[in-house]
Amino acid sequence: MDNENKSIYEFDFNLICEYYSNLERQGPGSPEVTTKALSFIDNLTEQSRIADIGCGTGGQTMVLAQHTEGVITGIDLFPKFIDLLNTNATKANFQDRIRGIVRNMEDLPFQNEELDLIWSEGAIYNIGFERGLNEWRKFLKVGGYIAVSEVSWFTDQQPQEIIDFWQSGYPEIDTIPSKVAQMQKAGYIPVATFILPDSCWTEHFYAPQVEAQKVFLKKYAGNKAAENFVAFERYEEGLYKKYKAYYGYVFYIGKKI
Ligand code: SAH
Repeated sequence: MDNENKSIYEFDFNLICEYYSNLERQGPGSPEVTTKALSFIDNLTEQSRIADIGCGTGGQTMVLAQHTEGVITGIDLFPKFIDLLNTNATKANFQDRIRGIVRNMEDLPFQNEELDLIWSEGAIYNIGFERGLNEWRKFLKVGGYIAVSEVSWFTDQQPQEIIDFWQSGYPEIDTIPSKVAQMQKAGYIPVATFILPDSCWTEHFYAPQVEAQKVFLKKYAGNKAAENFVAFERYEEGLYKKYKAYYGYVFYIGKKI
């Protein structure tokens, strides 16, 4: 399609997709953190049905496949991410165990009580933490697990600049005890909670973006939307470095009761 016929929004959307498809991860995390979260989950067998919601290009989906035996459905809104997931799954010989499908997390294709495990790293914010926990619960068997990572405040009070940033981006950001209480209220036993180490942001999320940004800016030299997008990414990284004592990603693992 010719760029002249696209709305700015559409063009931005495609640019963002392209930028992130060149990265292994689209959010903070690491293989070690995925396996750590998995260590709290028992009763998984060859028969288990697992959903990885907002899987992106599938960095964590591959780790899940390596450390479980069941069948995993990867869900993401962006077709390009799902294509990459399916290609990588085939390359790793997981084509029988990983199936990526394009779908909105607000309209999931599962039956009630079909799933043993719902996984979602750095993605539940798209539907909202509480809404996601509540709406997805019906797809889990009783005794099934949900494991999601979510941005959270570490302290009761924060500097105004970082409050303003998150209030405009994701006002549902909250403290760890508040999120745990929401999980309990939604009908899960809060089994475990842990903070993702700093390296999940620096080494696994921001460091690979340095090269990706150079390549991207070269390709789209003079393109304002591309330049603004990269500038925003860098601004966000700067805020993280400045305020990482106050917020970060937290894994929340719950068991359906
Ligand atoms: N889990 C991956 C990606 C996290 S980024 C990782 O940790 O690397 C958030 C992902 O959610 C993106 O891939 C984005 O395309 C996807 N997403 C955003 N809105 C969505 C929606 N409504 N339904 C499904 N996926 C969505």
